[in-house]
Amino acid sequence: MSVNTSPNNPPDCRAEESADLLRIGGVTAFTATDYPGLLSAVVFVQGCPWRCGYCHNPHLQSRARSYNAPHWRSVRDLLKRRAGLVDAVVFSGGEPTIDPALEAAIDDTRALGFKIGVHSGGAYPRRLQRVLPRLDWIGFDVKAPFDAYDAITGMPGSGRHARDSAAAILASGIEHEFRTTIHPHLHDAQDVLAMAHALAAMGVKNYALQVFRTEGCADAGLNSADITGYPGRDLVRQLTDLFPSFTLRDTRAGV
Ligand code: SF4
Repeated sequence: MSVNTSPNNPPDCRAEESADLLRIGGVTAFTATDYPGLLSAVVFVQGCPWRCGYCHNPHLQSRARSYNAPHWRSVRDLLKRRAGLVDAVVFSGGEPTIDPALEAAIDDTRALGFKIGVHSGGAYPRRLQRVLPRLDWIGFDVKAPFDAYDAITGMPGSGRHARDSAAAILASGIEHEFRTTIHPHLHDAQDVLAMAHALAAMGVKNYALQVFRTEGCADAGLNSADITGYPGRDLVRQLTDLFPSFTLRDTRAGV
């Protein structure tokens, strides 16, 4: 049976499933960059309802499980062996809240003694609300001003879902990083500034701008664009003043 997991037919309503049913697209056994200040392992959940042109993991967009995908039991065994070597496990994607087995997988992982993080874009706010009390930290991707999401995600209504998710995160008080991947073809300075002001007004304390990287991106137009001088020092200075903590991530040489 195929399941429509678009925001217009969200999986939020479906009952929780056993962790054994989690659809896993891959695992990173060790990383120092996916949970702030801690060494972590990352479990990539298969599936995302959105189709951002700059996606670095387009192979994770489909919900179809690949024939050689690891099963939860083998991943849990791997995590057991990582105890003492990593401090946290991060569920990423794709969009991890697409999967009705996420809550059970988190509970399994917590029982092994790890801190728990999630990377999410907020496509499924009701499931995210159920997941939030189980987390120690969340990295939340903000695509654009909430009224301009569709142009990036390709999904009507996605900005409303993201805004509801952002509000739930901030109401929960959980440690967070909100972050936006920016590209001059998708975000001009006014967009970025408007978005940042809206997030600061909502109560975001920790915000990061991530300058577009070509790795894994299949969009030739985005990959070939000249982004020299972007996002610009004046914009960065204004954003620095808006948040208690602000980070600019830019992997270009010499920047
Ligand atoms: S929300 Fe994330 S995983 Fe989904 S298409 Fe966009 S960048 Fe890719």
